[in-house]
Amino acid sequence: MIYNRSDWTKVLPKNATEDTEDEYDGLPNFNSLELQGIVWHYIGNGKFNHYTPEQVRSTLKRFQLIDMETKGYSDIMYNMCVAPNGDIYPLRGLINKGAANGTSLTNSLWLSVLQFMGADDPLSNERIVGMQQCKQIITARWPKATQVRGHREMRATSCPGLETMTYIHSPNYEIPVSNPTQTIKVPMPPLNLGDRNNKVLELQGIMAFWGWYKASQDGSYGPITKWAVAEMQKVLTKDCVYSGMVNGIYDELTASALKQWLENMPK
Ligand SMILES: [Zn+2]
Repeated sequence: MIYNRSDWTKVLPKNATEDTEDEYDGLPNFNSLELQGIVWHYIGNGKFNHYTPEQVRSTLKRFQLIDMETKGYSDIMYNMCVAPNGDIYPLRGLINKGAANGTSLTNSLWLSVLQFMGADDPLSNERIVGMQQCKQIITARWPKATQVRGHREMRATSCPGLETMTYIHSPNYEIPVSNPTQTIKVPMPPLNLGDRNNKVLELQGIMAFWGWYKASQDGSYGPITKWAVAEMQKVLTKDCVYSGMVNGIYDELTASALKQWLENMPK
């Protein structure tokens, strides 16, 4: 299951501060041409394999609070999270620089992904499917971000644990998932300028996740949302699932094209 950001938090990132390490201004703040790949992280001490989705979500919320209030970051540190059952959560998402890799440079060149895993957790099959799928999602959005590292290859740390380190550098990691079980909730159409509801919020979540929508997710279908829907329609057209007009209106045809695109993605 691939969630939207609004499924685990309603807290928006803080706006840009002087802290350039994790600034957020709504625009992609790493250079996608230079993006190298993924750095894997883990939680560290403890066991988390038995956590329910509910517990995962409330823990992510707690991490976000700590990162924002104690560490002074604009948002939770990581870009993405893979849960014990293989669920995938966008944290900062795929267009905002993370703050977990150690330096401003490594954060702008590498996306950081949190394995929701403790040092004593075995690497389950569900996690492995989630890790493969997460990598596919990232390279579908940023085709050049193909490399993989563990945090310990960047600084002195035990993160992301020996099992994950061994796995990400094994040939198995490259084997694509044949039939990943994934459900992505596509909001019901139609939606258009002036609409203000949870369906718009869900749509913004999906579009932010894939990099089309870059403003704050407020559930209000304004000009920026309309522009993002048009950007999305262009991609759906290019990928041969949409043959309607590029008009920024989330109608029946656009919704079914989006659904088809998501079901076939990542390829
Ligand atoms: Zn780490």
